[in-house]
Amino acid sequence: MKRKKIVAGNWKMNCNREEALSLATEIAGMVRDEKHNETTVMIAPPFVHLASVAHLVKPDGILVAAQNCAYEPSGAFTGEVSAGMLSSAGASAVIIGHSERRQYFHENDELLLKKVQLAISNQLQPLFCIGELLPDREAGRHFDTVMSQLLNCVFKLDRESFTKLVIAYEPVWAIGTGKTATSQQAQEMHAYIRKLIAEYYDSELADGISILYGGSCNENNAKELFSMPDVDGGLIGGASLKSRSFMNIINSF
Ligand code: PGA
Repeated sequence: MKRKKIVAGNWKMNCNREEALSLATEIAGMVRDEKHNETTVMIAPPFVHLASVAHLVKPDGILVAAQNCAYEPSGAFTGEVSAGMLSSAGASAVIIGHSERRQYFHENDELLLKKVQLAISNQLQPLFCIGELLPDREAGRHFDTVMSQLLNCVFKLDRESFTKLVIAYEPVWAIGTGKTATSQQAQEMHAYIRKLIAEYYDSELADGISILYGGSCNENNAKELFSMPDVDGGLIGGASLKSRSFMNIINSF
């Protein structure tokens, strides 16, 4: 099965309104003029810019993702944004379980599973992030860490729901540090994740699911990372804030 190639830009907590609109406009223009492959392009702006950015980039086939969603569908949860609201504002995907959410907002497997389920029931594709901390890698526990992040969360989904996911492998030690995983390290982990999916579900499902790499992926290393057979694209932080770099990453396939 041919898997979807995806390059997704995670803007994190960056850009005021003017900056967000001009970055989105630049990216849309470049995608229109220069994209020479079938890569699906996504951008994940902060909530507050989501609807305007979606409106701007949709004509050029760029999808918009949210960076998070609430774990309840609606109600008295001051400050939260539901999956249904995001969907109605023009999002078609949502990042769930980013290491910054796990680390700074103490999001655990149980809560993340609720978010994933709500995303799916509101027609949002979950970009589900997993990855080990540096001490896990140094102690050789990286495979176990990733396995438990899957087992205790998204492996509880039924097959039909699981087909909606995109997985992003993001070793935490590589995020925002300039220290990328080598293409061998990425390939080894992506193949392992795919093998686990084949064991828990089946190989047809495992072969069809896109697994993205994230963690200091940039225009200089994307080509090499994306050339690995189990790396289906990237979740890009810092380098997605510069339109030229982001476009070069998109064209790395
Ligand atoms: P980075 O972030 O590319 O800046 O390392 C990646 C991410 O957090 O998704």
